[in-house]
Amino acid sequence: MTRQPNRTRMFHRDLRKSYPEAQEGQGAYILDTTGKQYLDASGGAAVSCLGHGHPKILEAVKAQLDRMAFAHTAFFTNSPAETLAETLSRKAPGGDWRVYFLSGGSEANETALKLARQIQRERGQDTRDHFLSRRFSYHGNTLGALSVSGSVGRRAAFEPILLPKVRHVEPCFAYRHQGEDETAKAYGERAAASLQTEVGALGDERAIAFIAETVVGATLGAVPPVPGYFKEIRRICDEHGMLMILDEVMSGMGRTGTLFACEQDGVVPDMISLAKGLGAGYQPIGAVLVREELADEIEHGSGSFLSGHTYIGHATACAGALAVQQVFEEDGLVARVADMGEKLQQALEARFADHPHIGDIRGRGLFRGVELVAAREHKTPFPATAGLAGRIKTHAMENGLICYPSQGTADGVNGDHVLIAPPFIITDDQVGELTDKLARSVDAAITEVE
Ligand code: PLP
Repeated sequence: MTRQPNRTRMFHRDLRKSYPEAQEGQGAYILDTTGKQYLDASGGAAVSCLGHGHPKILEAVKAQLDRMAFAHTAFFTNSPAETLAETLSRKAPGGDWRVYFLSGGSEANETALKLARQIQRERGQDTRDHFLSRRFSYHGNTLGALSVSGSVGRRAAFEPILLPKVRHVEPCFAYRHQGEDETAKAYGERAAASLQTEVGALGDERAIAFIAETVVGATLGAVPPVPGYFKEIRRICDEHGMLMILDEVMSGMGRTGTLFACEQDGVVPDMISLAKGLGAGYQPIGAVLVREELADEIEHGSGSFLSGHTYIGHATACAGALAVQQVFEEDGLVARVADMGEKLQQALEARFADHPHIGDIRGRGLFRGVELVAAREHKTPFPATAGLAGRIKTHAMENGLICYPSQGTADGVNGDHVLIAPPFIITDDQVGELTDKLARSVDAAITEVE
């Protein structure tokens, strides 16, 4: 059944569109009310990392609901939240962490920004009032998180009401910005130097924090940094007394083949924000990990964080997320991501390496991006007016494939990519099904715009 726009009271994303009604989730598939099966190759948007209907997560959530759904954290702590915090602190790189639980990614980043500002104040650095972030980034849709986002399309309508004290620097995007004769190392240093220049121009003791996605997701399509880039960023942050926040809302929780994406970059940031894969879609949950010594500055200073939400540390959400961590461990899923991620990359390359309109295939683990170009040699993007990403999405849905195409890859407006983030349980056969359906959808869409 397809819900007609004039028969729904729901405020849908697109008010003129009809959406099939999702009825059942089975492993890597979603079934609609007509019985049509869709291979969920993007986990929604990198959310459903365990696939749908995982019995152990369902059991954990039901058991917690039976015991106690929720108790407000102004009065109580609870065991699932405490155990989940301990688990994440133990597994995160670089020592001890405190974990602040929220309901999603935007809230996690809002909280990270406010925490950073408060930590600077506790240090007596009240003059610090600017954030730095990167162009072509996405950190969420609430006004603070959107202010630090560099996504042209998502900011446009709200530009006049966004936070004014934000400076955007260059991203690290080798396919489009690394020079032909430039080594990855030299490019990484050049990309990071953009932060050095901007913070220098801002002046001493003005920068609160720098925030970046470890692997860029929605806006650019699974773009990993070149080796050494984030080490240089860490050095610049330290030199200027800026805190370093890594947004792993999409790229964290095993998605790239390590539990935290930044493990592969050999850096320890000051904060890490998480959501999506943390609850695997079974519960809405986000988190900010803060280095223990930074939390101590608040503990030994003013004593409390001047923020909070009703659902922080929600017992049922935390019980679901804790079960996700247990399944990761019991089933060795993070190592599986690394392995299946290589197979996915190979399958995409085998299918698309000679394709005249695929310019780049990239990513880490089960977080992959395919960039579409009108002409490969010059990396010329398709114009935004062609609406290629939207067409790919429509054809993919017709072909029973859920993937995540977006526009704006080349310059924030033009250029298209498809983000692929299948569940960690994906099989070899399903990798074949994914590439096959994707190729058919891409070709059908390109035929319409050529
Ligand atoms: N940060 C990143 C990197 C994201 O990809 C997203 C969502 O796509 C967000 C933050 C916002 O998360 P949420 O949609 O849960 O608010």
